[in-house]
Amino acid sequence: MSPRKIVLRFNTSISDKPIISRLVKDYDLEVNIIKANVNPLKEGTMVLEITGEKLDKGIKYLRDLGVQVEALTQDIIRDEDKCVMCGACTAICPTGALYIERPSMEVKFNSDNCVVCLLCVKICPFKAMEVKI
Ligand code: SF4
Ligand code: SF4
Repeated sequence: MSPRKIVLRFNTSISDKPIISRLVKDYDLEVNIIKANVNPLKEGTMVLEITGEKLDKGIKYLRDLGVQVEALTQDIIRDEDKCVMCGACTAICPTGALYIERPSMEVKFNSDNCVVCLLCVKICPFKAMEVKI
C-alpha cells in the first residue's frame, strides 16, 4: 500500500494526547510527520505521510476523538503580484511560514513550513494567498 498524505486539525483538548504513538502501536501504522504545529493553547495542525493495513481503522480512531482528517490535496501559493507586503498574514500564520524579514521588512513565504491551515487565505485582504489543488 502506498503512503497517503493527510492533514489533521484538532482543538486544544487533543493537543496533549499521544495520538501518533497510538496510531503506531495500536494500528500498526507507519507515520512520517512532515509538518506539525502543536501548541496546547491553540488549534493544532499536522501533515502526515501514513501507511499500513489498518489505515482506515486508524483514521476512524482519530475522527472518533474529534480530529478533522482530510487528504492533502492542496498546496498554498502566493501571488507575488497581488501581495503588497502589508504583513497581516504574518500575525496569524501559526508556523512562521509567513514572516517579516528584517531589516528589509519584506514579507517572505517559506512553503516548507506551511501546514495548509488556510488562515492566510481567509485573512489576506488582497487575496494574494491562494489554494492550489
Ligand atoms: S496579508 Fe496578503 S498582502 Fe498582506 S503580506 Fe500577507 S500575503 Fe501579502
Ligand atoms: S496556510 Fe498560510 S497561515 Fe497556514 S501555515 Fe500555511 S502559510 Fe501559514
